[in-house]
Amino acid sequence: MTITIESVITCPTCGHQAAEIMPTDACTYFYVCASCQTLLKPLAGDCCVFCSYGSAKCPPIQEQKTCCA
Ligand SMILES: [Zn+2]
Repeated sequence: MTITIESVITCPTCGHQAAEIMPTDACTYFYVCASCQTLLKPLAGDCCVFCSYGSAKCPPIQEQKTCCA
């Protein structure tokens, strides 16, 4: 299957969008918006900021593996 490693994060505070390359072997738990400097954290139930705010979920989730185990 094809894994998407680029995800466009949309800041929930200001709406700024930024394309980021996701690491395939680690979760991105914190992300600072380049526009408003808000520190984003995953929403409850999500493992990383890409799952909460990105256009694509993180690679381990796409592979249906558990993340951050
Ligand atoms: Zn922002």
